[in-house]
Amino acid sequence: MREDVVAWRRHLHAHPELSFQEHETAAFVAAQLGALDGVEVTRPTATGVLARIAGGRPGPTLAIRADLDALPIVEATGLPFASEREGVMHACGHDGHTAILLGAATVLSRLREQLPGELRLIFQPGEETLPGGAAALVAAGAMNGVDAVIGLHLWAPDPVDTLVVRPGRLMAACDVFRIVVKGRGGHIGIPQDAIDPIAIGAQVVAALQHIVAREVDPLEPAIVGVTGFHAGDSVGVIPETAVIAGGTNAFSPAVQELLERRIGEIAAGVCAAHGATCDYEWTPGYAAVMNDEALTARVQEIARELFGAEAVRGGTPLMVGEDFSAYGQLAPSCLVLLGAGNAARGIVQEHHHPRFDVDEAALGHGVRLFAHAAVELLSSLPTTSVSLDPNKELAR
Ligand SMILES: [Zn+2]
Ligand SMILES: [Zn+2]
Repeated sequence: MREDVVAWRRHLHAHPELSFQEHETAAFVAAQLGALDGVEVTRPTATGVLARIAGGRPGPTLAIRADLDALPIVEATGLPFASEREGVMHACGHDGHTAILLGAATVLSRLREQLPGELRLIFQPGEETLPGGAAALVAAGAMNGVDAVIGLHLWAPDPVDTLVVRPGRLMAACDVFRIVVKGRGGHIGIPQDAIDPIAIGAQVVAALQHIVAREVDPLEPAIVGVTGFHAGDSVGVIPETAVIAGGTNAFSPAVQELLERRIGEIAAGVCAAHGATCDYEWTPGYAAVMNDEALTARVQEIARELFGAEAVRGGTPLMVGEDFSAYGQLAPSCLVLLGAGNAARGIVQEHHHPRFDVDEAALGHGVRLFAHAAVELLSSLPTTSVSLDPNKELAR
C-alpha cells in the first residue's frame, strides 16, 4: 500500500491547514476512514477525528495518535506537490504522520476479527500551537479506557531506515511568558524626564540569562529563550512600554517552577532598580514527553525485529515540546522518532524550515511499525504490569 500512503501524504502536503483550522484535512481523514469496513468514525472536536476498531474478542485498548496541522511558513521546496496555499506549509511532517496512521488503519481494519480488544486512532488538530489539540480530545473522552498510547514523529535530523525508541525523558516541557516593561514615555532629547522601557527591557533580557547560567542545577537541562522584543516606532520618542516574550523548556517540574518564579522576580527587580514597573504573565504549555519504561521496552523489541537491532537507537532527550504528553499523563505512552532524513538525496533541512522535506520511504516504515505494534501490544498488554494498575481501575 506504499502508493496509497505516499499519495495521501502528497495530497495533505499540497493542502496544508494551520492549527485548529484543519477542516478539510479532518474531512479527508474521516472520509478515508469511513470507507474502511469496521471502523467507527467520530468527530469529537471541530477539527479532530477519532476512530475505533473493535477487535473480535475482549482485550485491552491501545491508542495510536497522529497530528494534522501545518505551519505559517512560505514553502520553498519546489516539490511537484508543494503547498497550494501561500504562507501555509507542512514543515514538520504531520502530513506524513496522518498518512501513516491512515495506512495503519487500513491494515488493522482488515485484521479486526482476529484482534483482541480495541484500537483507538486519534487524529488531533493543533499540535504546533498552545494550548495544543490533545487536551480537547482528552477532555472529549478520547483516552477513556485506554491502556496504552503510542505515536511517532518523523525526524529529519536522523537518517531514514533508523529510529529512536527511548525510555524515560524524550521531549521537554515547554511554557511561555510575557513581560510588559512599563516606563514613562517622553522626548529622546529630554531623557531625564522619561523612564526608558527599551534600555530597561534590554537589561531584563540580559539578566534572564543568569537563571540557567547560575540558578539551575547544571545537570538539569533548561532553556530560557527570549523570542520577541517589541517597543517604539519613532527615533525621537521614548515609548511608554516594551513587550518581551519568550519561552522556557525543562524536564524537571522543580526546574519549571524555578523558571516561572525567577523570571518574574528578576523582571520586577530590574524594573524597580530603574523606576519602572512590569506586568508578568506565565502560561503553562506542554508537559514533558516521558516514555513509559515497560511499554517502550516492548516497542523497542518490535522495532528491532522489524528493522534490525542496529537501526534502533536510544537517542538523547530533546528540548523541544510535544503535546503527545497530554495522552501520556493518562496511560503508559511511547513516542518514537522515525528517521526521515537522507543526505544523499538532499533531504537535510531542519523541521520548520521552508525547504523541509522527508524521505517518503519512512512512511512505509511507520505503517509497518504501527501495524506490528498494534497486533503485538493488543495481544500482550494484559499480561504486563501496564494494564494491572489498580489506581487506574479505581479512577474509571
Ligand atoms: Zn513542529
Ligand atoms: Zn511536529
